Amino acid sequence: MLVTEEQLITELENNKIHVAYLTFPMTGAYFHAKKLIIINIKQAPSCQLSALAHEAIHAKHGHDGHQSDDIELRVEEEAAQILISPTEYALAEQLCGRHTAPIAEELGVSIKILEAYRRILTRLNHVSTY
Ligand SMILES: [Zn+2]
Repeated sequence: MLVTEEQLITELENNKIHVAYLTFPMTGAYFHAKKLIIINIKQAPSCQLSALAHEAIHAKHGHDGHQSDDIELRVEEEAAQILISPTEYALAEQLCGRHTAPIAEELGVSIKILEAYRRILTRLNHVSTY
């Protein structure tokens, strides 16, 4: 894990963005006008952390409300980069093969974050073959 939940929250608080954990109908949300991130407390810790990283990226970019699919994918990729280290990913893949769910569990992130990380790796591999 590159960053812990506590480190993320501290960084957000330093930027005057508050985080609240509530029962919430979505994994998380960022309300730009109120500088408030809400994370659904009724999900697994790995999903809470992943949602927090995702919403922190929205906050960083000043996004207000749900963005286009394209932007949401980018946000997920940026979140993946602050959560997953290349070394940890390589180790998890050695341990778990290519199976998505066990790797996500090993890394302590959501499956969506893992998939976003793999999209980045795929693009990097394509670039490095030229
Ligand atoms: Zn989003």
